[in-house]
Amino acid sequence: MGEFITNIFNAFLELMRQFRAVDVLDIVVVAFLIYSLIKLVRETRAEQLVKGLLIMIIAWALSSQLNLKMIKTLLDNFFQFGIIALLVVFQPELRRALEHIGRTKIGTRTFSVAKEGESLLQQERKCINAVVEAAASFQKSKTGALIVFERQTKLGEIVDTGTIVNADPSAQIIGNIFFNKAPLHDGAMIIRNGMIYAAGCILPLTKNDSLSVDLGTRHRAAVGMSENSDAVILVVSEETGTISLAINGVITRNYTRETLKGALENEILPDVAEDGDRRPIFSSFRRVKKDEKK
Ligand code: ATP
Ligand code: MG
Repeated sequence: MGEFITNIFNAFLELMRQFRAVDVLDIVVVAFLIYSLIKLVRETRAEQLVKGLLIMIIAWALSSQLNLKMIKTLLDNFFQFGIIALLVVFQPELRRALEHIGRTKIGTRTFSVAKEGESLLQQERKCINAVVEAAASFQKSKTGALIVFERQTKLGEIVDTGTIVNADPSAQIIGNIFFNKAPLHDGAMIIRNGMIYAAGCILPLTKNDSLSVDLGTRHRAAVGMSENSDAVILVVSEETGTISLAINGVITRNYTRETLKGALENEILPDVAEDGDRRPIFSSFRRVKKDEKK
């Protein structure tokens, strides 16, 4: 017994001797990847799939233990082709994950804000104010609206399905566009860099069937768009006047004027610390915290 413990201790010492500083990096990166994967799984349809997959793996282990040849062969084949099936089924999530990796804010958003001075920031603030005001009046008048705030993922293909407007935002013009006898009221408005860039655009519908049945196509289009990009999508329901936001495949409902303004500023404006410092490197970590609060 004593010898056993000494052996373990020696093995541990040996490992520690081989431990290099870069191994810390290795461990941190792998831990972060696992964390991101769990987060991705928790936030998306992947959760049910992972459960299904676990059951299959258990079945496979049992069948090989009990020597059930046919079941085992079936499952063997399933796992062989399963990888390809997974890639196909999870194409939107994988696409989002890859885009997320390419979306390090260092050098893109931060740089452009710094380059153009405060003007882009001011434009975005103005736009949020206009959208919030319009949404509040749509809520009262029960006017249907669908507004997409483009972020890092460029939505050129979506813009192509509608009409380019490129207008300076105001509550009046947004009201005009969604007025239900106006030609561009159908479909979605796209906001790019604080400008009303396009209107009348067609968004991809979500295939998520666990959404509440009283969410119709407008809401499904919002969720679909948020699954396929990092955009923030605002919906005002024509039936109830309810304001909702779809982000990363998740729809949150019943916003008021105040909570909507806070949420949009939080999501769309570049991360600015309370004291005015920009801390882009920490932005993704802060975003994670925000997600957890919901
Ligand atoms: P509401 O609560 O406003 O009724 P809903 O979720 O029940 O919304 P519908 O009643 O089906 O949705 O709303 C239909 C409207 O949603 C359409 O007139 C159109 O403007 C918009 N819409 C539907 N599908 C899309 C799409 N794929 N892309 C953009 N807009 C869409
Ligand atoms: Mg409806």
